Amino acid sequence: AVTKKDSYSITLLPGDGIGPEITTATVAAIQPFSKLFKMEFKEALIGGAAIDATGSPFPDATFEQIKASDSVLLSAIGGPKWDGNPREQRPETGLLAMRKGLGLFANLRPAKVVRQLLDASTLKPEIVDGVDIMVVRELTGDVYFGTPKGIETTESGERFGYNNMIYYEHEVERIARVAFDVARKRGKRVCSVDKANVLDVSQLWRDVVIRIQKDEYPDVELTHQYVDNAAMQLIRWPKQFDVMVTGNIFGDILSDEASMLVGSLGMLPSASVGNPSGPGVFEPCHGSAPDIAGQDKANPLAMILSAAMMLRYDLGRPEEADLLETAVDNVLDQGYATADIMRDGCKPVGCKEMGQRVAEALEKLL
Ligand code: ATP
Ligand code: MG
Repeated sequence: AVTKKDSYSITLLPGDGIGPEITTATVAAIQPFSKLFKMEFKEALIGGAAIDATGSPFPDATFEQIKASDSVLLSAIGGPKWDGNPREQRPETGLLAMRKGLGLFANLRPAKVVRQLLDASTLKPEIVDGVDIMVVRELTGDVYFGTPKGIETTESGERFGYNNMIYYEHEVERIARVAFDVARKRGKRVCSVDKANVLDVSQLWRDVVIRIQKDEYPDVELTHQYVDNAAMQLIRWPKQFDVMVTGNIFGDILSDEASMLVGSLGMLPSASVGNPSGPGVFEPCHGSAPDIAGQDKANPLAMILSAAMMLRYDLGRPEEADLLETAVDNVLDQGYATADIMRDGCKPVGCKEMGQRVAEALEKLL
């Protein structure tokens, strides 16, 4: 989308586990924005809930509804109930189909250290204080989608499995542009991560990223790291990074690693974007947390921060995105905490109350 409008249609995908409760809390948290613009929320099925109701993890009706909306807020999907299902009937398969169907080839995962939760990080405060990294992960190519692939048996009866890591030039060009565009709005530095010393596909990746930077983004600084080194540097001195751009499988691993700099799973948003003429999908990084589902214990802040990303990257409302993030910051300053981010002297709140507190804080800023 990225065009500012007076009214938005937003598909809600409440999903499984804690999904429905954090969705409710998120809608409550952003309700004050209805003073400024209209938000029309419409729910649809995906993941386990969709499998139970229709047999498919990504029903056609959901796809049609999403295509007609401005943006998508997704909570979390999956759970032990569906873990044993064949691949076509797994909740995660629905997610992949949705991203592919919507042409969402870029996953943005910020790892911004939360000042109030410095102790939650796995690293020393002096190493993580002030860390603000955006990992841009390619989502629709790489070893996850390359063909041929499979498990076969040799003539001597030994089985072997294989997948192909493939990147086409146009796929690298467009993810590089997303990364450079994001960098222009931040610290103007991109580190491209590959394994060009070993993999041919990575040599192509590097060549293309260099060309795009030279031709189109001379104002953005570009560096390169091998993925093994990048994994180490993220732990050694994470403040060196602004935007990191990488392929699907390296990005999968590095974005999880980067998230541990922040410490709490309940604070991490993400965005899947890339299609200028269709909706993006915004969701917390955490899973459906079946162990605490339905108990009003879940932390809704990751999904609320995902809504901030939606405002910034899909709805053309960057100022409102900043306001929502400030509201979350203020609530943390006031000492409200769900169980997962509980610290000494904090006031315990449940999922629902956390959503209300953010709404109150936001109200004060409008
Ligand atoms: P998935 O495979 O779907 O990513 P997972 O196995 O990685 O799931 P999560 O569902 O993310 O795991 O949960 C991991 C742990 O973190 C669980 O103990 C869960 O209760 C906790 N957790 C996850 N999200 C939240 C949240 N929003 N608030 C509080 N605790 C959470
Ligand atoms: Mg997980």
